[in-house]
Amino acid sequence: MTSRGRMLLISGPSGCGKSTICDRLREDPRVVYSVSATTRPPRPGEVDGKDYHFLSKEEFRRRIEAGDFIEHAEVHGNMYGTLRAPMETAIREGRIYLVEIDVQGALQLKALDVPGIYVFIAPPSLEELRHRLEGRGTESPEQLERRLAKAADELREKDKYDYVIVNDVLEEAVAKIRELAGLGKEPA
Ligand code: ADP
Ligand code: 5GP
Repeated sequence: MTSRGRMLLISGPSGCGKSTICDRLREDPRVVYSVSATTRPPRPGEVDGKDYHFLSKEEFRRRIEAGDFIEHAEVHGNMYGTLRAPMETAIREGRIYLVEIDVQGALQLKALDVPGIYVFIAPPSLEELRHRLEGRGTESPEQLERRLAKAADELREKDKYDYVIVNDVLEEAVAKIRELAGLGKEPA
């Protein structure tokens, strides 16, 4: 099956399974993952150019002024942005440009009328979301409560997306998204 070049945006609350789903989608050679730029320092194990483009504050500001970002936002005191050039290149080459982004960023892209398939990943329930965040074990109890409260607000935005996919059984969610992107059910 062939696919047309376009942006595939995956968004949703923290813990809904964005990274897990995107890791699966990235197994397909027709998919190019959008690497964001950030001013936050790399965490242990993070690789420049793969996890993020790690930029100094000065460099980030310079690139805002140069118009290099489609959107950028300050999150927890650091700057994050989606770069324009790699998206344009991938789409021109007929690839699926995969953008994994929080709800705030997704709605910014939507407001800018960036064309693409906007997918909201919903957890089966807020209770299940709590279990998954607890299971991931990357947040302190306070951070976890904050993320859950934010998730309840973010869920109210789901109708602004083109599609809502409930991430209950991972394989099924991935297959549905692959179909939406014209990739066929199974990886090539
Ligand atoms: P996000 O990137 O949206 O914050 P993650 O991909 O890190 O979310 O997923 C949060 C946790 O939930 C991880 O521990 C992940 O392994 C788990 N998870 C993701 N999808 C499923 C699923 N369909 N069923 C059960 N657990 C899942
Ligand atoms: P982290 O520092 O934990 O990797 O990410 C912190 C937050 O920044 C997350 O909510 C993540 O979704 C958001 N983020 C990452 N990249 C971008 C981006 O390019 N644009 C926007 N607006 N937010 C981003």
